[in-house]
Amino acid sequence: MSEPSIFTRILQGDIPGTIVAQTERVFVIEDISPQAPVHLLVIPKTQEYRDVAELAAGDPALLAEMIATAQRVADERAGGQFRLIFNTGADAGQTVFHVHAHVLAGELQEKSLI
Ligand code: 5GP
Repeated sequence: MSEPSIFTRILQGDIPGTIVAQTERVFVIEDISPQAPVHLLVIPKTQEYRDVAELAAGDPALLAEMIATAQRVADERAGGQFRLIFNTGADAGQTVFHVHAHVLAGELQEKSLI
């Protein structure tokens, strides 16, 4: 059994973090270091998938649930328009190896994300 990820620890209430939405298998938090007016992280409750490639191969329905949840929170907070980013691999900027989707909306502060 691997160590709980930072996101699992937030889900379990071991470290601070506000869950702003959830489904049976997915939860959403605000990024601690926002790069846009709306910057949310959509995260599976299971940490068994390191990145989106593993998730797509192992549980495509869970990936679809993440995307549907991203749309829902973007509808609620950003008029339904958003960017969805999966950093995949350390060289691409991934720092937490518990798959998660960044939902960004509004004017981005980091233009290189385009
Ligand atoms: P990655 O770089 O792996 O794609 O994204 C990880 C994200 O998790 C980063 O945007 C980072 O700001 C966010 N993050 C890291 N630690 C915490 C934390 O303790 N709480 C919250 N809410 N976000 C975190």
